Amino acid sequence: MSAILALLREDLRDFEGYRSARSEAGQGLHWLNANESPRANACDQGARLRRYPEPQPETLRSALASVYGCHPNQLLLGRGSDEPIDLLVRTLCRPGLDAVLVTPPVFGMYAASARLQGAPLLEVPLRDDGGEFSVDFDAVTDTAQAHSARLVFLCSPGNPAGAPVAADDVLALAGALRGHALVVVDEAYVEFADTPSLIERIGRCDNLAVLRTLSKAHALAAARIGSLVAHPDLVERLRRYQAPYPIAEPSARHALAALQPMALAATGLGVAMVRRERERLRRALATLPAVRHAYPSQGNFLLVRFVDVDDAWRRLLRAGIVVRDMRAMPQLGDALRISIGTPEQNDRVLAAVAGRSGP
Ligand SMILES: *Cc1c(COP(=O)(O)O)cnc(C)c1O
Repeated sequence: MSAILALLREDLRDFEGYRSARSEAGQGLHWLNANESPRANACDQGARLRRYPEPQPETLRSALASVYGCHPNQLLLGRGSDEPIDLLVRTLCRPGLDAVLVTPPVFGMYAASARLQGAPLLEVPLRDDGGEFSVDFDAVTDTAQAHSARLVFLCSPGNPAGAPVAADDVLALAGALRGHALVVVDEAYVEFADTPSLIERIGRCDNLAVLRTLSKAHALAAARIGSLVAHPDLVERLRRYQAPYPIAEPSARHALAALQPMALAATGLGVAMVRRERERLRRALATLPAVRHAYPSQGNFLLVRFVDVDDAWRRLLRAGIVVRDMRAMPQLGDALRISIGTPEQNDRVLAAVAGRSGP
């Protein structure tokens, strides 16, 4: 057994998972094994929806693997990256025993999945030094070792903190936890960052995994296409524990179209616009008296502290602008997270925060 499979819940190690009709299929002319309809629905032009889809559409898997720079057998397709997060927690952590480590303030899904599974949650807060957040890697390593963490979730660039984590620190952490925990780096925003993805490091570090998504830079949030990139043995096993047909055919079709060269070029232009606007908005916000601090960000959002955050929230709402409320998050009682919009929307944000009526 591959060493990485020792990270699976012990009671699952010889469990094959559900076998769908599709996973048992061989060769044939007349497919009467899955209780599908012999005729297409009247609305289904082209009869694409009559049959169950491929569990892991191979053309999409290969296309994503080539964009992400990995082998297709290292990539598990999911319904967004939220599904692999949940799948990892459920299959690696025994309730009440194997812990999930997170670094708040951070994306809430890791803790939500841990809670649903009954997995203990370990929290190692980000440090906020000199106006920039960073992961306390010594504390993460010590806490993970002392309290049997099975999964460590890092977010790079961090949501909502905006800062990337250093590759060397992640690799050292994974090395220290080898055989005990999987280190998962959520790269939902890496397309907007100056730092490269850690995917190419996975081949030499078997307890490292990376999450990617088409929801942010690729503008396909409603298609729900995310990926886990990890050791092929782990991917193969998770695929058997996943829902039988996770990837809807229309979603797979749109995702594949989004990975063609013309669409990728347009995505690249969109990312460049967001990066320019991110810096423009941050500089402009930083000059406003209402703003205490606008954090540097490698994502498509800005984390902003306000002198009077309740007033800023009300002024934005009055201008019809809905931003993400961070006030209930640890360390962020005076902060809001603002997604980068169009240049015109960003001007409206500036006007609202400055107390002007319009741009
Ligand atoms: C938005 C976001 C996701 C969710 O991605 P989906 O692929 O849409 O599920 C994952 N991680 C982080 C940190 C995010 O901000």
